[in-house]
Amino acid sequence: MNKGMLIEDIFGNKYRLSIIMKDRVDTYLHQGKRKQLIELLKSKGFKDKAVLNAMERVPRHSFLDSIFLSSAYDDIAFPIGEGQTISHPATVACQTELLNLKKGEKVLEIGTGCGYQTAVLLEMGAKVFTIERQFKLFEKTRVLLPSLGYNARFLYGDGYKGLPAHAPFDKIIVTAGAPSIPEALLLQLRENGGLLIIPVGENNEQVMNRVIRKNGTEFEKTELGKFKFVPLLKNKV
Ligand code: SAH
Repeated sequence: MNKGMLIEDIFGNKYRLSIIMKDRVDTYLHQGKRKQLIELLKSKGFKDKAVLNAMERVPRHSFLDSIFLSSAYDDIAFPIGEGQTISHPATVACQTELLNLKKGEKVLEIGTGCGYQTAVLLEMGAKVFTIERQFKLFEKTRVLLPSLGYNARFLYGDGYKGLPAHAPFDKIIVTAGAPSIPEALLLQLRENGGLLIIPVGENNEQVMNRVIRKNGTEFEKTELGKFKFVPLLKNKV
């Protein structure tokens, strides 16, 4: 990679890749820790080879503040700024498995955050549209991910409304806890099998929901275990 390359944001601010990538080299130590993380995920019951292989390729340490570098591959959540967190690797593995992705599928992600989940989706071969409502996170991640070789469509806005201009989507993943399932997202799923994975619930505890769109009007909902996510905020952009 050309570390001297200049990257420009939408305001015309220029960043040098060498600055963004400081302390971000993927060393043998990081790769070894990543293998251990994959073994840990297997011991927790995750079996989907495509998901585990994708997670083994994504340098999670590159998404975190350098003070967390030494524990980047522990199965823990970290603050990523603006009061938000990167999800536990086990949560990422779970949501990605539930998406049941096929190469080339069109995916909408609500809650870009630091972009780690986005990178895992891209490693799975998905075409990803990702929305973030925190402007600073949006700006940071839309520069960081391409610098790591990950190309998605980054959008700033309220994911509650989905992305009607690019619908329908094969899959939609929400990475923040929603008080209820936004109807706009259901209507942006493709008919005959479009699938939404969304943690639903307030007060710091959510139930993971999978909704499959059968046709124009019928949806099949399944509840799949408890999780803790930061809240999905409505009308706050
Ligand atoms: N997948 C992310 C998880 C970040 S936490 C990662 O790997 O880092 C959830 C994210 O959802 C936060 O960044 C939060 O700002 C964002 N979010 C909350 N409500 C939102 C909304 N209505 N639209 C878009 N993003 C939202």
